[in-house]
Amino acid sequence: MDRARLCTQMRLPPELQAKGDMVAVQENPANAHGVTSAPSIPGLEPPSLALPIGKMWANGRTLRVKILNGSSKVKGKIQEYGNQWTQFANIKLQWVTSGDADIRINVDNSGGSWSYLGTDNLLIAQDTHTMNFGWLTDSTAENEFSRVIVHEFGHALGCIHEHQSPTASGIPWNRPAVYEYYLRTQGWDKAQVDNNLFNLYSASSTQFSAFDDKSIMLYAIPAELTTNGYSVGWNTILSATDKSFISTAYPFQSTPDVNSFNTLELRPADQPRLLHTKRFTWTTSYSQAPKLALGLNWLDIGRSSNPRIMAFHQDTTTTKTDIHIDSYADTTVYSAGVSWFRHAANDPDFQSGSWSTTEDHPWDKPKTVTQKQITFPRAYASAPKVIVWLTHIDVNNGANFRVRATVSDITRTGFKLNLDTWADSTLHVATASWIAYPTGKAGVASGSFSTDDVRKWDQPRLLTSGKANFPSGTFTKTPNVIVALNMIDSERWTNLRVKSSASAVNKDGLTWHLDAWADTVLYRAGASYIAWV
Ligand SMILES: [Zn+2]
Repeated sequence: MDRARLCTQMRLPPELQAKGDMVAVQENPANAHGVTSAPSIPGLEPPSLALPIGKMWANGRTLRVKILNGSSKVKGKIQEYGNQWTQFANIKLQWVTSGDADIRINVDNSGGSWSYLGTDNLLIAQDTHTMNFGWLTDSTAENEFSRVIVHEFGHALGCIHEHQSPTASGIPWNRPAVYEYYLRTQGWDKAQVDNNLFNLYSASSTQFSAFDDKSIMLYAIPAELTTNGYSVGWNTILSATDKSFISTAYPFQSTPDVNSFNTLELRPADQPRLLHTKRFTWTTSYSQAPKLALGLNWLDIGRSSNPRIMAFHQDTTTTKTDIHIDSYADTTVYSAGVSWFRHAANDPDFQSGSWSTTEDHPWDKPKTVTQKQITFPRAYASAPKVIVWLTHIDVNNGANFRVRATVSDITRTGFKLNLDTWADSTLHVATASWIAYPTGKAGVASGSFSTDDVRKWDQPRLLTSGKANFPSGTFTKTPNVIVALNMIDSERWTNLRVKSSASAVNKDGLTWHLDAWADTVLYRAGASYIAWV
């Protein structure tokens, strides 16, 4: 096979990046949260642009695909091999010949094959193609049709190059040989080689498989380009991991109600504003308005004023709620996100509530430590499980942004809620929501994790992750999971950017993530999760 025939992954131009992030989250909220399924995301963009956003389409979507030219044989092959993904992904390809299309395919002899990724396609003008096949003709070999077409449709569905997956760091590249090889065979300079080969996507907000050297999304790796003779030939068909990955990203089984909201669903990150609201409806029927416990899961707030952010629900009825993410005064909110857990108001097991430091003291009389005895509306038979999430913070920017919600002294009748800061920080307001349920309740698990579990506070990193195991036997299938923040300790000289999420959820446990991005220095962060079936 011609070694010169390589695909390049198309990236949006920088001026479209913020809009692309917004469109991605509008299309599929999981692109912001990674709780269910989100793809790998670019981690080595210019820092100011590096929002940790995925590019997956809404699950179940029908994509209109238009082939602009090419022989009838080549068009037929594009449909045949493009459709292969849809056997394993809950995505339909509707082949159209007129009108607007989500994916527009050009066939030429330019020598270049490429595609935009997933929802990035929505940012490209209708009069421009989004995918190119630069060497397909009626005499192309069958396995070459398969190799190139299946690969490009992987990009169109949001898949990145496997050799740039977060788990590809083990490829023993002989870097000088790689630079020389691609300069000679492709005319690529060092930056192009870095962009197409070496730059790995970030593991933040992602669901990705272990490195798969059978993946259709992998370049061939000639032995001359590695330090120890490791090599991979051209893969020409979907691997088992490709199939399972895409079926996890686009599952055929029904998905639960959306239980998260990010301001990026309403406007791009570079157009900050104070007030955000969105309506959500239930698929469950209730006899009275359900209870919601909210938790902030994502913050990107300017450092030049006090970080002030609050999430709450309003006008909640038996069919819907309005979720708000608001700020006030001179705070700059670039983006923020919230998750919520919902239960029937008369549920025999779940109880929830919310409490704010403003019920103890005013914002301008701040305290370092605030403790409140919370009494359950109904006592439990024995001490229940309780988790807490932050829903409102207002921290002075004269010192580092430190706030923490914890639970102590849980008994069958109640618990102590602690809303604290520490060191020289000033906490004007903190509000937390709480959720309680009987210890040992079937089909439910919860827990807390923090960066302290895996690293020291004085070794800040952008990406911190770890494993949480559910108590054995709790689940026989993959549960729903909601994660939100309960602790933040971030440097005052950089924007407050932090997000909590879970990936690789299965019946046994999950991988948690507490991440920052751009130039933020995140000393510590903590979160709690609840999982249920
Ligand atoms: Zn490619």
